[in-house]
Amino acid sequence: MAELIKGKEVAQKIREEVSSEIEELQKKTGKVPGLAVVIMGEDPASQTYVNNKEKTSKKLGFHSEVHRLPESTTQEELLQLVDRLNNDDNINGLLVQLPLPDHIEDEAVIHAISPEKDVDGFHPVNVGNMMIGEKCYIPCTPHGVIKMIEHVGYDLKGKNAVVIGRSNIVGKPVSLLLLDRHATVTITHSRTQDLPGVCKQADVLVVAAGKPEMVKGDWIKPGAVVIDVGIHRIDDKLKGDVEFESAEKVAGYISPVPGGVGPMTITMLMHNTLQSFKFKHGLE
Ligand code: NAD
Repeated sequence: MAELIKGKEVAQKIREEVSSEIEELQKKTGKVPGLAVVIMGEDPASQTYVNNKEKTSKKLGFHSEVHRLPESTTQEELLQLVDRLNNDDNINGLLVQLPLPDHIEDEAVIHAISPEKDVDGFHPVNVGNMMIGEKCYIPCTPHGVIKMIEHVGYDLKGKNAVVIGRSNIVGKPVSLLLLDRHATVTITHSRTQDLPGVCKQADVLVVAAGKPEMVKGDWIKPGAVVIDVGIHRIDDKLKGDVEFESAEKVAGYISPVPGGVGPMTITMLMHNTLQSFKFKHGLE
């Protein structure tokens, strides 16, 4: 039976570190890091994510702002708010919750966020800097995946890592981070041939396909590290992209859903916001 990589526990440890660092910084500078989240419309999943970000950031001691805008807000109005928050000294991290309504161009909004405050790590400046190993914000979910692998002391050097999915927010950046840690990385996607055969070669398998329980136990190399990024609500239960019951019998380590990657994503957002504050005050 695989050992569980409990993201929830890893996240808790990092949150405690962030919280005590904020306390120290407050003593030193008289200020705390600030996070502003902008949300448009009423999408229930987005509302839940934003509420969790607000709750967590307040709990850890951040200054927290949520700007809830009606669906009818124009792109110009949204960009004006982004500009105002870019120039607000109390705000160190700024994100606009995606997806945005159809009349808003995602790219225009992402490009408008100051790279110094882009704690999601989606701005092209941060994406480019990550590519070449320069100072940047690492996107939260991929960063969380790596922290989970590191948490169990697994050495990625020379290992075969297979990533399922090539999205800009998960698949591509996580592949780059694995490569940076000297894994031999294969990126797979919806047009990959013989996906089970490719997965079977993986010492480390990161699954971000957005397809419930797609990866079966017999796709997994015995002893492999399996990180399941997928999240789906099915019959009021949360499921991942991996069929957990069959996979846990084969894998060496596996992250569960819920309690795996999910809690890490918000935690790394807090980490990035703290980092932004430290950059600004010359403490990093
Ligand atoms: P996406 O839809 O943008 O990308 C999915 C990728 O998977 C694509 O590159 C596609 O080519 C590939 N894919 C789709 N079907 C496939 C198949 N049958 N075989 C192989 N590859 C296939 O999704 P995303 O934003 O990268 O998210 C992926 C999953 O992770 C979703 O379930 C999402 O909800 C979840 N997610 C979770 C967190 C978290 O914090 N836990 C964060 C982000 C995303």
